[in-house]
Amino acid sequence: MSATPLLEVKGLTKHFPVRKGVFGRLSKKVHAVDGVSFAIHAGETLGLVGESGCGKSTIGKLILKLIEPTAGEVHLQGTRIDQLSRQDMRPHRQDLQVVFQDPYASLNPRMRAKDIVAEPMRNFARVSHAEVDDKVAALFEKVGLRRDQMPRFPHEFSGGQRQRLVIARALALRPKVIVCDEAVSALDVSVQAQVVNLLADLQLDSGVAYLFIAHDLAVVEHISHRVAVMYLGRIVELAEKRVLFAGAQHPYTEALLSAVPVPDPTTKPKRIILQGDVPSPISPPSGCHFHTRCPYAEARCRVETPPMREVAPGHFAACHLRPGPVA
Ligand code: SF4
Repeated sequence: MSATPLLEVKGLTKHFPVRKGVFGRLSKKVHAVDGVSFAIHAGETLGLVGESGCGKSTIGKLILKLIEPTAGEVHLQGTRIDQLSRQDMRPHRQDLQVVFQDPYASLNPRMRAKDIVAEPMRNFARVSHAEVDDKVAALFEKVGLRRDQMPRFPHEFSGGQRQRLVIARALALRPKVIVCDEAVSALDVSVQAQVVNLLADLQLDSGVAYLFIAHDLAVVEHISHRVAVMYLGRIVELAEKRVLFAGAQHPYTEALLSAVPVPDPTTKPKRIILQGDVPSPISPPSGCHFHTRCPYAEARCRVETPPMREVAPGHFAACHLRPGPVA
């Protein structure tokens, strides 16, 4: 891995104001993301997992500059981008692309497939008219679509083919980083596997880095090199995939992993059922956000926020029960 990460976020925070009354008075804040830090290197996939509403998709939107952070920094190839104006961001746009969950919603139904894929090249790259068709055909081939499908409209493709089309468009400008936000969640299981394998092959080919945001741990285990686990706006554990799946250090990760079905019917791992619902991000619990549901909670968990500690080389967890140097 290179020394400078392709993408780095430091202390990223997003609080959404909640307004009420006819004058829109600020009453409370939704703590969507609370001081999140991580880095991704070339050719690496970082899986970002957690229950619905934990803030993982908000992190994707902050990185893509679709919303402004309340605090913190986003660096792309060593350049801080979170404060850049629209104009100043333009040269960096092509290095940062996105694949969203719903290929139906992210494709213009009135555009032909070849124009959808060609659009970023026409907008950002100095590619001649004659070259565009050849480049689009090459991208179609790369993502497993055929050249004769280029004149078709999105509704003439299956769900999996539409997601391939979205991926071809994302690849058109040879990005360095792609944010995949629940990119395969809307697809059938067999099609999910094809698209995940396609993403992995494309990464080997180009060295692109992925931030792979998903709630499905089995998919994340398949595609990720490292995994970050989120709970109520904070990362609570981050480690190399095999290390995390073999020996989770945070009680929340333990509970999440215990719910993943195992293919071997003779092994019956103990399922950890968490009590209660995820608390509201409008008033998250004090101290460790997880203390209201944690089976090991102690008195200090209610008042002291556990810092992220390196519990083993490259393995980080935020829990008072796990000693190690503060990261
Ligand atoms: Fe549980 Fe306390 Fe660890 Fe939080 S800090 S995960 S409440 S033991």
